[in-house]
Amino acid sequence: MEQRLPNWLKQRAYLTPERKAVIFENETLTFHDLFQKAVDLAAKITSYSISKGDTVGIMLSNHIDTFSVIHAQQQTGAKTLFLNLRLTPSELAWQLQDANAKLLIADAESLGKLKEIQNECPELTCISLSELIDSPKSAFEPEEEFSLDSICSLMYTSGTTGRPKGVKQTYGNHWWSASGSSLNLGLSEKDVWGCTVPLFHISGFSILMRSVIYGMPVRLFSKFDVEAINQCLIQGEITILSVVTSMLQRLLADLNDQEYHEQFRCMLLGGGPAPLTVLEQCRDKGIPVFQTYGMTETSSQIVTLAPEDSIRKLGSAGKPLFPCQVKIMKDQEDAPPNVEGEIVVKGPNVTHGYLNRDDANKESFHNGWFKTGDIGYLDEDGFVYVLDRRSDLIISGGENIYPAEIENVLLSHPDVSDAGVKGMDDPQWGEVPHAFVVSNQDLTEHELLDYCRRNLAKYKLPKKIHFVNELPRNASNKLLRRQLPGLISEVK
Ligand code: ATP
Ligand code: MG
Repeated sequence: MEQRLPNWLKQRAYLTPERKAVIFENETLTFHDLFQKAVDLAAKITSYSISKGDTVGIMLSNHIDTFSVIHAQQQTGAKTLFLNLRLTPSELAWQLQDANAKLLIADAESLGKLKEIQNECPELTCISLSELIDSPKSAFEPEEEFSLDSICSLMYTSGTTGRPKGVKQTYGNHWWSASGSSLNLGLSEKDVWGCTVPLFHISGFSILMRSVIYGMPVRLFSKFDVEAINQCLIQGEITILSVVTSMLQRLLADLNDQEYHEQFRCMLLGGGPAPLTVLEQCRDKGIPVFQTYGMTETSSQIVTLAPEDSIRKLGSAGKPLFPCQVKIMKDQEDAPPNVEGEIVVKGPNVTHGYLNRDDANKESFHNGWFKTGDIGYLDEDGFVYVLDRRSDLIISGGENIYPAEIENVLLSHPDVSDAGVKGMDDPQWGEVPHAFVVSNQDLTEHELLDYCRRNLAKYKLPKKIHFVNELPRNASNKLLRRQLPGLISEVK
């Protein structure tokens, strides 16, 4: 039977109207204020002939108005297509067409892209955020209930391994994601979740959803301002912060001898592999890092390391959240502990499928389980270790080599500022790892290989190190290993 819950923001504004919902620069909105704003904007969105089930794209940076627009969309019952601001106009146009969006709302930062998008999508109505705010209101009544089966958001994967895939995220997916997170991290009335990651990515959007479900304030930042964020953490203004590794490294570098406030209880670190050196630095400084593993398809975290295990299982992404399951598949069978294979997951937060991608749906979903495309293993206590992407695994003379492991070693060298590793064809071994390294120092291949030799087994040593100016990254700043061989012609 279809499960329905009361309209989340309306219910929140009814239950705890005076609680803070979002704090951004000098502005604060309570849940009462946010509901009023969302209903007002929803009536304006409706004036563009948008109704329940339609798709509306948003190209909005982190701002208090973005918060209100996202909630307004939910009030209308329209699906929100979250667009990554760093995509090119033609990539954006492709996603808008694939998702069949009727309306696009863009803020000042993205207005420059609208003309080109409009050329490629003549049927699409494109408006700026200020135009929306100035629009007349149409008659509108907020939804009374949200069906957990309805699609709330469409979000494309980052496109690290291939063309981005449109993920359908239901209200149920978000509900279970938020519930699973709180069952692991706990919930305190003092909690304030810092959001410096983009709202258009699941890492940021899931914070907005937790806020309305938990009744918790979000401290929203427009950009990653290291000093301002460290000040908030030192003064105890944020209790939980979501970060990726590069953010954490910048926070650590700026922190020096200062310490975070005792109310700061969770640095939620996800999005990619975490170098052990960073985790050890945090351990030494007493920073409570919780490694987590998740993806667009799991509507945020699916595996997180619980506080009591953070030191004992350093390097692990943890155990599944309470409503979720994880197993490792090797040769179509469940793999025993400590055997590497594909990470396969199940849970009510996992998407039911991709938009317009029968091929990927057939390939990825089996009997309620989702094949993540990542390789990892479970240890004897059931902790998940994520090794790398299946598509990037290097098989050299029958041995498995994980590019991430070699990259970690290269990155731990003080003169290496960026590194990527890719398997290249080799007549003797089938494939061998080649390293692509950015260094601003006079580092030689010989020196770096010597360093690697001290930290890596012989078969994992890069066969060749290419010094390059920059590594290819996608709009989510993830390394595009498949493009690394193209750099060989421009080696420094
Ligand atoms: P695409 O699916 O289009 O190739 P993507 O997988 O990079 O893009 P996202 O959904 O943004 O798109 O990223 C999820 C992926 O990020 C995971 O599948 C995994 O490969 C990686 N990842 C996330 N958390 C971790 C982690 N803790 N350790 C290692 N890798 C992680
Ligand atoms: Mg993916």
